[in-house]
Amino acid sequence: MYDSIYNEAQDALPSRAYTVYPSLLCRLFYLWRIMLIKFQKNDTTQLSPHFTADEFSCSCNNCVDNFIDDVLLEKLEEVRVAIGPIKVTSGYRCPQHNKDIGGAPSSSHMAGLAVDIQPIPLNVDSLDKLYEKCLQVFDNIGDGRPKRFVHVDVRPAKPNGVKRKWVY
Ligand SMILES: [Zn+2]
Ligand SMILES: [Zn+2]
Repeated sequence: MYDSIYNEAQDALPSRAYTVYPSLLCRLFYLWRIMLIKFQKNDTTQLSPHFTADEFSCSCNNCVDNFIDDVLLEKLEEVRVAIGPIKVTSGYRCPQHNKDIGGAPSSSHMAGLAVDIQPIPLNVDSLDKLYEKCLQVFDNIGDGRPKRFVHVDVRPAKPNGVKRKWVY
């Protein structure tokens, strides 16, 4: 089983403040609305119609508690339904594992807000299809197609509504 961690302060922040200090308060607002699903490695609980908890486990051999954001899961499910089977190549990362594999120091993988995914079967066309769908569904998309993956995360969109897109 998994526990949901939910901070009820999500509605406490006046929306006006978001506009005044976007970069800082955007982050705070996000932390307040977050709903993480907590699970342990090898937990095969079905979290959504097509994903089980262990698919998002950290790949190290040390950490115990792992996390995945509920909105991320919902959006992934939408992509999965549209394009077919998806393999999660990197889900949650504990800080040590993120460091070990050279992840960005503030990687959203450490917060349970990001996944790297691959289409099944894996080929140029299926990767393109996956990337295009992710562009529709997510606000933050890392194009790792040359390295055979797409990174998506659910950090809040920029205040001007522009999506974050970058290439690995
Ligand atoms: Zn770990
Ligand atoms: Zn990633």
